[in-house]
Amino acid sequence: MTLRGRLTTAFLVVVFGPVLLGSIFVALTVATVSQDRTSERLDHAVTTVRTGIGAICRQLQAAADAVAVVPAADREAVARQLVIRGLASDIQIGPAAGADCAAPAGQPATAIVATATAGSVTITATQAVDGDFLARLAATSGAGIAFGVRHAPESRTLSAGPGQPLPLTLTVPKSNPTFLYAVLLAVVLAAGAAAVVVARWLATSTTRPLGDLAHAADQVAGGDLDTRVPIVRPDELGRLAATFNRMTRELKAYVQALTASRDQLRGHLAILGETLSSTHDVDRILQVILRTALAATGARAGLVLLLDPVRGQLVPRCAVGLTGSWDVPEDDLPNLRLPVGPGVLGGVAAAGEARRGPGEVGSIEPPCRTYVAVPIRAPLVEDPFTQTEPEPATLGVLALYDRVGGDHFDDADLRTLRTFAGQAGIAVHNVRVHEEAQRLSLTDPLTGLWNYRYLQESLRREVERASRFGRMLAVLVLDLDHFKEVNDTYGHAAGDVVLGEFARRIRIGLREVDVAFRQGGEEFVVLLPETDAYGGAIVAERLGAAVRERPVLVETRGPISITVSIGVAVFPEHGADARRVLDAADDALYAAKNAGRDTYRLATLATGVPEVIFDPTTTTTGGPQPPRQARGR
Ligand code: GH3
Ligand code: MG
Ligand code: MG
Repeated sequence: MTLRGRLTTAFLVVVFGPVLLGSIFVALTVATVSQDRTSERLDHAVTTVRTGIGAICRQLQAAADAVAVVPAADREAVARQLVIRGLASDIQIGPAAGADCAAPAGQPATAIVATATAGSVTITATQAVDGDFLARLAATSGAGIAFGVRHAPESRTLSAGPGQPLPLTLTVPKSNPTFLYAVLLAVVLAAGAAAVVVARWLATSTTRPLGDLAHAADQVAGGDLDTRVPIVRPDELGRLAATFNRMTRELKAYVQALTASRDQLRGHLAILGETLSSTHDVDRILQVILRTALAATGARAGLVLLLDPVRGQLVPRCAVGLTGSWDVPEDDLPNLRLPVGPGVLGGVAAAGEARRGPGEVGSIEPPCRTYVAVPIRAPLVEDPFTQTEPEPATLGVLALYDRVGGDHFDDADLRTLRTFAGQAGIAVHNVRVHEEAQRLSLTDPLTGLWNYRYLQESLRREVERASRFGRMLAVLVLDLDHFKEVNDTYGHAAGDVVLGEFARRIRIGLREVDVAFRQGGEEFVVLLPETDAYGGAIVAERLGAAVRERPVLVETRGPISITVSIGVAVFPEHGADARRVLDAADDALYAAKNAGRDTYRLATLATGVPEVIFDPTTTTTGGPQPPRQARGR
């Protein structure tokens, strides 16, 4: 049964039930009252009839007495007069004809009789009981009167007896309340019809908004969040509709926000994927990972630190949204180092375990209400020799601060952050592996200097930079003198040691910006950015001295004395491009060899003679001297 049906039934029972009961009560009351009234009227009629008949008896007696008192001769005349006047229907003078006002025994009384005696005669006054008489009696009593005793409903019988000579049956017309009943029925029917109409209206007006609401809820469930329910009246259902509309509105806003954040996250993930596959810039990768983690968890701020294992410190590499003393430019971030061990971040790095909780007041770490921090670890790589999986090394820490909305970071956030930390670990590991491979492919394993491949690239880059900024670049080519003899005398292994030591002396004799290369065999190249011929000569002299003055100590072989010849050329003076300036330096080296070795020569300006600025073999001071014309080749 529907709600509408139930409401209609309930309304009908509550409203129409009492109406029906009231009507039945009224009908019963009316029936009882009409019964009582009939009985009353009969009582009244009986009294009236008795009184009337009694009066007739007394009247007949008076008439008979009146005839008896007059002289015998006048009696006839008086009797006639009395009959004419209607005091009796007949007056007989003769022998006695009946009892006074008594029912004649054994026969039905057809008259009422009264007698009087006057001597020997009896005067009998008679009132005939006929239709007229009964009609008159009925008229005065207000009841129907029939001769004889007959039992019937709504009737009363009068039996004959002393002073009541006639057996009579009195009836009164039954007072009929049919009209009343009709009115009552009409009222009940009208009330019933009205109740049905009102009940239906009430049920409809109650259930229609509910139906609308159910329909709207159906549409919302189907995904149509623009559905609204009309608010017809400001009653409870109206409030329900208003609440439903508000709920749908807020649901839509929530879904939109969710969609937007999903789209944002997709964007971040796309950038993350692209970044991971396209760059080896660790800081850029970490920045993108941090921003994606922030978008995924809805955190306010975040920080990535990488471990400096040599100093046992965590070095901040990128940060977003930090406040307080941590709100510094990107370049100053590495100054905010944290020790491994103490504090939240140091603890995470030391234990390799994630942590989360409320921020600590007064901590040197970024200020926050809540935090979650996970270790960044290198991926597990099976050791190819021992076939065991080593403990993954902790590379750093990824931390997020203050989830928007104020909630604590939950397990889901922790899982998400672990995923991103995993990505960061793989990325940092890959970049380091790549850098190591790169380094190995560009360095010379014997001396640790850059190799010939890297020389070409560096020379091109330095020449390009020098030409862009209008600066000079000095190029030194070094070749050990009679090195073949070293090999021949002390063995190839000792030669290798000499080469390594020679490279070390070159390195320590240079500035930070200078770069040294092993070009091949016992030939080396040094690039001196922003250095002119004079500066180049000073370095050449210094390196020559560093080799010459201290023989190389080789275990079991004793000290080995070596010297080096050096050619110096300067960009752009001696060559307009990388190849030409290197060729010019080579030519100058050749000139130095020709000049007897253990010296340096400066390249010639054009095709001229290589020059020397000062020559240790001809000077005694050893310090820089003003340039002077070189000797010929
Ligand atoms: P100079 O340059 O003074 O004219 O004479 P040199 O003996 O150095 O002449 P050269 O350039 O002909 O000889 C270079 C020698 O360096 C030849 C080779 O045996 C040696 N050599 C080249 N590479 C290595 C190396 O990696 N280790 C060792 N031990 N010797 C090397
Ligand atoms: Mg050589
Ligand atoms: Mg040589």
